[in-house]
Amino acid sequence: MQLNNLNIAVLGAGRSGRAAARLAIKHGARVCVFDASSSIDGWPEDIPLHTAATEEDGRAFHADMVVISPGIETDSPFVKSFGREGVETIGEMELACRFYHGRIIAITGTNGKTTTTSLVEKILLRAGKTAVACGNYGVPVAEILLRDSVPDVLALEVSSFQLETIRDFHPDVAVWLNFAPDHMDRYKSVEDYHRAKLHIFDNQTEKDLAVVRSGERLPHLKASVLTFSPEDPAADLYYRGPLILEGGAPLLNLEGTTLNQRHNAENAMAAVLACRHLGIPAETAAEVLKEFAPPGHRCETVRTLDGVLWLNDSKATNLHALEAALKSQHSPVILIAGGKDKGLDYVPLRPMLKEKVRACVVFGQIADQLQHAFSPAVPTEKAADVEACVAKARSLARPGDTVLFSPGTSSFDMFTGYVQRGQAFRDAVNALPPLS
Ligand code: ADP
Repeated sequence: MQLNNLNIAVLGAGRSGRAAARLAIKHGARVCVFDASSSIDGWPEDIPLHTAATEEDGRAFHADMVVISPGIETDSPFVKSFGREGVETIGEMELACRFYHGRIIAITGTNGKTTTTSLVEKILLRAGKTAVACGNYGVPVAEILLRDSVPDVLALEVSSFQLETIRDFHPDVAVWLNFAPDHMDRYKSVEDYHRAKLHIFDNQTEKDLAVVRSGERLPHLKASVLTFSPEDPAADLYYRGPLILEGGAPLLNLEGTTLNQRHNAENAMAAVLACRHLGIPAETAAEVLKEFAPPGHRCETVRTLDGVLWLNDSKATNLHALEAALKSQHSPVILIAGGKDKGLDYVPLRPMLKEKVRACVVFGQIADQLQHAFSPAVPTEKAADVEACVAKARSLARPGDTVLFSPGTSSFDMFTGYVQRGQAFRDAVNALPPLS
């Protein structure tokens, strides 16, 4: 693939935009990066950058190809202003993968992508492959391709936004973890979000593998299909805690591991099936599952204080993740939820609240909406910020309870992201003095 003398507009001067620009330059293109912000800190001098970019700039620039970063809306007027008739518009991941000749395990789903991507990377490494977890998680693919040595396999987390802008992207293994409403602030409908995710299968052939949760609503797939499930004993891998069964016989035991709850067991089964396509046996995966610690802010234990367990699940940025966290609780829960309005409907959570939750504390932009949705099911109080939520939850919790911080929506009304929000929760919990 050659980009010689092509005029490429890279839209978005974030990490992936910068890497895409470098990669395109390396392959002979003339590149200019456009960003609507008025300044970009630490931008390298050797990459042409146009700040405070507008649609007028787009119309004035004669691009032969447009490469967009995942954060930018594909059908925004800004993007459209660059795309004259016949000009290819693709994402950073699509561009980068055109220069990659190793194998790709791509992972999508509403939840569990990062955990599964990390598991896949670790299993591949344990099997002696050179592998890197990348994409939506960690490092943009373009950045990997700028390195001196390129890995045998990419464990590639892909978001619906990245999948909107592919064309030739062809994973050897495509993992579909699950699907539930999310990002309703970006998509017009749940169907649009579903359609975007389905692109993961577009270029697969019968030689490839699709790993899917059984019961998912999917069209006929060209790849061969393997399924996993915590509900369907007929799936290729079936979790009946703590065992993962294959054909009714135990294959793996999750007892004593951090993955021994429904949602993480699903991630584990998907990772095992995906790696099997590259010839890696379950025994190798088992070694990794035993010592795996999910990344932070995912149902992570902060501390036990006065008989109350405090869990930080700040990464729960949608209702589906919040449901998964509640499903895996076995003690009465004080739930802390809230954040930015993403257009999701929380009323369907009521039966599970009745079953699992003693009381809720809600905060942030959607506090009123959550109180309205939750209070017919369980007592629900509002609090001004995360610290106040922690104080209120403490007064409500009894020994033996779990306080679960699983916001169920994004954090951008009050924080820079889920990490800062989770840290605020950890800090507030760690500052609580014991009751004397
Ligand atoms: P993603 O990268 O898709 O956001 P993560 O692995 O970071 O996924 O997990 C995000 C949130 O979803 C966390 O709150 C986590 O506990 C929850 N979660 C993880 N795996 C699953 C799953 N398979 N199904 C439902 N929820 C999950």
